[in-house]
Amino acid sequence: MKQRLTILGSTGSIGTNTLDVVARHPDQVDIFALSAATRVDALLAQCARFKPRYAVMASSAHARELAEKLKANSLPTQVLQAQDALEQIASHEGVDAVMAAIVGAAGLAPCLAAARAGKRLLLANKEALVVGGEVFLRAVREGGATLLPIDSEHSAIFQSLPEDRATWARRVDHILLTASGGPFRTRDPATLRSVTPDEACAHPNFVMGRKISVDSATMMNKALEVIEARWLFDLAPDRIRVVIHPQQIIHSMVQYVDASIIAQLGTPDMRVPIAVGLAWPERIASGAAPLDFAQMAALTFEEADERRFPGLHLSWRALAAAPGTTAVLNAANEVAVAAFLQRRIRFDQIHAVNRATLEAVTPSNPDSLPALLALDERSRAAASAQVARFQ
Ligand code: NAD
Ligand code: MG
Repeated sequence: MKQRLTILGSTGSIGTNTLDVVARHPDQVDIFALSAATRVDALLAQCARFKPRYAVMASSAHARELAEKLKANSLPTQVLQAQDALEQIASHEGVDAVMAAIVGAAGLAPCLAAARAGKRLLLANKEALVVGGEVFLRAVREGGATLLPIDSEHSAIFQSLPEDRATWARRVDHILLTASGGPFRTRDPATLRSVTPDEACAHPNFVMGRKISVDSATMMNKALEVIEARWLFDLAPDRIRVVIHPQQIIHSMVQYVDASIIAQLGTPDMRVPIAVGLAWPERIASGAAPLDFAQMAALTFEEADERRFPGLHLSWRALAAAPGTTAVLNAANEVAVAAFLQRRIRFDQIHAVNRATLEAVTPSNPDSLPALLALDERSRAAASAQVARFQ
């Protein structure tokens, strides 16, 4: 049977890569709904090509503009304008699978809606899991949803683990998340204070959204991924390790108790984990070029330098602190990265904002979506106050 797919954040980097894979398999996937924040013309073009039943924009002004343009082009897609429109397209009975590709905590509510409705949830939006933690996993369990990781490292680990989840705890010693090291891996750390947003977004191997690009430069992306792995694979934080691997050919590895390591390899192309998520447990063509071992130079590995990447260790610290602390860290980082991209703070001040916000906000065990959203808001206010101190 054809899979009916909603894409949350279809105009972004993951969203467009998803549509690229979907377009290769018109007999297997139908697009049910698409959504975007502000890019009306990009979403209009996607509606013309993929004919979704519904489209959602983040503001009513953009939604009205899209509705007018759809009508002018005689396209049948209906624009949903309700406050909870994203939740509706994530949990609608006509949907089988949801690609969560919104950036930031803004994606949490629709992810929870998809989880509670028992959908197949393809999770790129790591911030939603970092903020949601146990609440997110409970919704997956209670809704009977299937949670499939799209982040390339987590897809690699998912593919390298035994299928029987019940055996992970006794068979697996630890997992190794690989990290590219970003654009500043070899730059003199003393010069990091002067980097510009464009320099920070120039990732060596991927073109991605600006937020995750900055996160890759600070390695806060890896910090968020450590937290994401803790929840996805139910591993104690000390069983999650990080190693720098600049070529990004090995996408992550699992070390078993007998010292054997199983890794997943391939060209760095997000269409691979997207195709894995769409088809699992089957396999479908992704459009990515296979690895050419004859052309491949050396694979190298390095330890992450704490002076260059002080943010990485905030993940283990947040996981060891009171429940909800990872939501505080995520909110601080979203505020700090936005301030850096607006040139309101320096690159090295992102870490200062994150650390100070962790110290300023003590969560009180948020165990529901409203509690998490309130904590997110409180943390953003605290982080904004830290940003203001630097101005
Ligand atoms: P992006 O900025 O390119 O795209 C984000 C999408 O979300 C866009 O379609 C945008 O319109 C939409 N959006 C943003 N804010 C929104 C809001 N408030 N409400 C509704 N829609 C909103 O980002 P991306 O690089 O595609 O990343 C998306 C997610 O996937 C992030 O969580 C990122 O960490 C994760 N991820 C991305 C990559 C990658 O290669 N790009 C790899 C792994 C994980
Ligand atoms: Mg990743």
